[in-house]
Amino acid sequence: MKRILLFLLLFVSAITFSDTLKNVSYNNGKVIGTFRENKQIIPNASVTKLGGEDLLMLSFPDSKMESGVPAFINKSDQYISKVYTVENNGMVVVYVYLKPSVTYQVTSRNGEFQVTLDGGKAATAQKSYNTPQSQNNNTNNTRITQTQSQSQSGNTSRGNKKYTIVVDPGHGGHDSGARGNGYNEKDIALQVATRLANNLRRDYNVIITRDSDFFVPLDTRAKIGNDANADFFISIHLNSSSSSSANGTEVFYFSKKDQGSYAAQVAKFENKVDGSYGDVPFSDFILNDIFYRKNQKTSQAIAESVLNNLINTTGLRRRGVFGANFAVLRGSNSPSILVELGFMNNYSDLSQYLTPDGQERAASAIGDAIRNYFR
Ligand SMILES: [Zn+2]
Repeated sequence: MKRILLFLLLFVSAITFSDTLKNVSYNNGKVIGTFRENKQIIPNASVTKLGGEDLLMLSFPDSKMESGVPAFINKSDQYISKVYTVENNGMVVVYVYLKPSVTYQVTSRNGEFQVTLDGGKAATAQKSYNTPQSQNNNTNNTRITQTQSQSQSGNTSRGNKKYTIVVDPGHGGHDSGARGNGYNEKDIALQVATRLANNLRRDYNVIITRDSDFFVPLDTRAKIGNDANADFFISIHLNSSSSSSANGTEVFYFSKKDQGSYAAQVAKFENKVDGSYGDVPFSDFILNDIFYRKNQKTSQAIAESVLNNLINTTGLRRRGVFGANFAVLRGSNSPSILVELGFMNNYSDLSQYLTPDGQERAASAIGDAIRNYFR
């Protein structure tokens, strides 16, 4: 009887997760992933523009990864800056941060996938796509070749606008953030942040860290701003609480020390996504103390102004402005704030941000507050 039960359990786990990623490695323009199962595993591949880089995402539905797979490969060269691998909700995603002009080719054979990178040699990569059978007679072999367009100028050039502002919609992709009333934080944050970015574009150079539903590691968000020499960084979030009566709006600025246990708790939740990347080096972002103090003052002042404008517009409860140690703000060289618009699990808070009108009102309240500081 026990044996049958064990067999059934094994059978159920085998159909729940069809593939198990055993390893991911990177060397000299080649990302190689191996799976435990000896069968053909074809990832879904797509590329998204991200600041000055192109983010190649390879997703493997119905997969899990073994505990020894490196979550982060920090090997910057002429092809890539790093590789992240994450598992969430029964899916494994490999994120390859491509340097500009780098083309990629994904091949897959039994139990293995390979990404071959080719810096600035688009024509060569294209050619091999046209003659795929020349190198490999395996009919199961799959090739995907993409040539990336290089229209970065609109993203980072300062034009005749004086200031550059980074708008960061919280969470994304496998990281849905807080949930409440049937909605995900990542979606509402993206909608409000997109309107804020459009609003700010009238007067500033604006970079948005994600413009659709994909995951961006927290340290990358700050790096996007630093690479563009941004003047201000604003991250948009919504809160959640175990108590349905918790409500209101609050704004945080970066502080090495959390202000009280509540601020520490919110920071802990927002930092959670990257908690698995314990070895991500934040050393690139070690804050110079003078920078830190100057930015903190400015951040705090803008945070106050953003909060005042928001509650005057929405009528939601004023929870306050707090300093907290947020991973997303930690690495930023510019003044930076994180807005918790309201509580996902409190419908009267959430309903302020569900309609296009409500989102627009919130966006212009925040935009006006920023304009008071950058003119
Ligand atoms: Zn959040």
